[in-house]
Amino acid sequence: MLAGPDEFSYIGPASLGNDRFITYRKIRLASETDPDRYVRVGVPVQTALEESTRSIAKNLALLFSFLLAAFLLSYLIGKRSIVDRISRLEVASHCLAAGDLKTRVADSVSGGELGSLAASFDAMALKLAHREQELEQARHSSDNANRAKSEFLANMSHEIRTPMNGVLGMTQLMRFTDLNSEQKEYLDSLELSGKNLLALINDILDLSRIEAGRMQLESADFSLRRSVEEVVANQSSQIRQKGLQLQVDIRQQVPELVCGDSLRFKQILLNLLGNAIKFTQTGSITISIAVSSCWETGCTIRMLVQDTGIGMAAEEVERIFGAFEQADNSITRKYGGSGLGLAICQRLVELMGGRIWVESAPGQGSTFSVELPYTIRYKGVEPPPPAQDRKPVAPLSKKPLKILIAEDNPLNADTLAAMLKRMGHETRVAANGRAAIDLWQTWACNCILMDISMPEMDGRLAMAAIREQEARIGGRTPIIALTAHALLGDRERFLAEGFDGYIAKPVDVHELADELKRMSEPA
Ligand code: ADP
Repeated sequence: MLAGPDEFSYIGPASLGNDRFITYRKIRLASETDPDRYVRVGVPVQTALEESTRSIAKNLALLFSFLLAAFLLSYLIGKRSIVDRISRLEVASHCLAAGDLKTRVADSVSGGELGSLAASFDAMALKLAHREQELEQARHSSDNANRAKSEFLANMSHEIRTPMNGVLGMTQLMRFTDLNSEQKEYLDSLELSGKNLLALINDILDLSRIEAGRMQLESADFSLRRSVEEVVANQSSQIRQKGLQLQVDIRQQVPELVCGDSLRFKQILLNLLGNAIKFTQTGSITISIAVSSCWETGCTIRMLVQDTGIGMAAEEVERIFGAFEQADNSITRKYGGSGLGLAICQRLVELMGGRIWVESAPGQGSTFSVELPYTIRYKGVEPPPPAQDRKPVAPLSKKPLKILIAEDNPLNADTLAAMLKRMGHETRVAANGRAAIDLWQTWACNCILMDISMPEMDGRLAMAAIREQEARIGGRTPIIALTAHALLGDRERFLAEGFDGYIAKPVDVHELADELKRMSEPA
């Protein structure tokens, strides 16, 4: 007999095989009198283990298949929505790249990593839109500042040119008086200083106009050869005075006529040649012009200005194209100049689509190279004849004219009156536009010299009022605009407005005579 349950004691599994499981029990026999003696019995549970393993495996396989199916399904659904959201982000980025800064994508792509990517995208687009707004405002204020600067410079130029007109006009008039040699020398210095000051004002005006984007280039056919000749003729006395040799080499293939801005071409060459003369004590200067490349309708002209002068060190070469830059501080003292010429040249060359550079070494001379692209339009056509040389001033007109001077500045009015008197003309002065109209109505004048900037009524309004009255009563008095606003294209502008002629201040006595001659000998 076996003992009751309270007398059982579990020992636990003693061995576990691949397919069997045996547990052992301590059993006290009922017949046993010694309470500490037991029998150890093994109970095999092989069949039960096999079955439960199979059932667990079956259940696991089922669970796994179910999980796999669920995963595949959610992957396919998820994949579709990810692709969709990425493509929305892509479209938005294209819109942004095309400049549509109002593009937003976070509303249509929300949640998860793509959602936070979309939110960052929106934040970036917002920031860009703000930046653009700020940039637009900055551009606007910089445009305003540039305009103000240009206006300031134009006004300054007017203010400085007006007294310069008096100074240079008087020096020209003094040449018609009897002067001893000492006085002539002083007069030369006075005139030279006046002209230098005027050149400086013109340089500052040029540079500021280029920098304000207001430099307009002309486009007309001109002869490169003739332009070079004119510049050389302009500098020939300085070359002679310094005893320098000048060689001009214009290659055969250089076209006779090119289309561009001849004035600016001459300005560049004049500056380079002027510098070559200034910085060369002995030796020679060579100007060479050749064609460096060609295309169907045009060519690139390469111009070299070489000298055997003082040359420059590498670090000086780097600076000289900057505004107000000179190779070293002693330059102004020794050679004069303001350091603006090359800055203007470089900007002009760039404006014309070309480039300028220099090769130089101290004591070895310098070679300035300029490349400029030009259109060749009228191959083989003869250019217009050169302007005729100026004739001596007095007496310029055999027929005395009655000339009305409308000018508010008494010094300028006096200078003009003296110049005109010297030419044998009769003059009367009106101090503003209204006074000029009154005088014109009562005095039968042959011509009016009309200053543009005048108090009370300016020259434009006065001219318009005279033209209006002439339309009713008949006749036409030639009116020459007189202005210190000497900008490129001004002549054409004034002529288009109804003036018959144009003279820039400071008035040059030869130009005045030429313009009056043109008025009295209509084509
Ligand atoms: P400026 O001659 O009025 O001083 P530029 O802008 O024309 O102004 O020239 C700037 C500087 O470049 C000059 O002051 C000079 O130091 C240097 N430079 C220009 N041309 C030459 C040259 N041919 N030889 C040596 N130095 C030169």
